[in-house]
Amino acid sequence: MANFKTHIQISAISSGVLSTSLLGANIVNSTEAVLLWIVGTLGGVLPDVDSDNSTTLNILFGIITLLSITAVLSQLGEGVSTLEIWVVIALVYGFTNWFVRPIFESYTVHRGIFHSLLSSVFISALSIVIAYELTYLNAIMSWLMGLFIFIGYITHLVLDEVYSVDFSNVRVKRSFGTACKLYEYKNIKASLLMLLLVGCIFLMAPNTQGVKSTLLSKHTFVKIKESFLPLALKS
Ligand SMILES: [Zn+2]
Repeated sequence: MANFKTHIQISAISSGVLSTSLLGANIVNSTEAVLLWIVGTLGGVLPDVDSDNSTTLNILFGIITLLSITAVLSQLGEGVSTLEIWVVIALVYGFTNWFVRPIFESYTVHRGIFHSLLSSVFISALSIVIAYELTYLNAIMSWLMGLFIFIGYITHLVLDEVYSVDFSNVRVKRSFGTACKLYEYKNIKASLLMLLLVGCIFLMAPNTQGVKSTLLSKHTFVKIKESFLPLALKS
């Protein structure tokens, strides 16, 4: 099993390569590129939210708490007093750490449903809707956030599988096949519920037409390719 440090390093590299490619092609600005880099890296550790290791959970819930506080604070209008801001922060902190975290600790199994391709789609779809509804980000940036979390998440699952193979004496460990699975075969009910939620969440996702024509157009890929080399080296 790959450890926390390896997951952070690999996802930071992969999302860094992708976000800087978008920056070079002028598809996102520098602030947006940094934001995508951070969420992509976070995506690379998110599957271990089902971990039994308290250090991993402390770090993960620290990040989740910080992001939730940022999202909620961005929803407060003007004229809110400092005391109210502090109360909101305390409430969000309490909710994520004393309500959400215990649920994860008691109901999740390590390498269970959160180590599956279905959950990668679920978490990504959820991030698209949260980014669009709770922050100032537009439809395209919200979809990019989801895409980066998805790529980070998949990187994690693949890495867990790669670490299941003992290369020194080409032997497959018992954990092989438990990370990169389509859904949780041992819990069909939970998988079906997650599939249903994925469908509902995608219905709430913002403006797919504009996103498709911007992100999936041939023009975007040409732009990324063309902006790779400095002008002086092209001719
Ligand atoms: Zn893992």
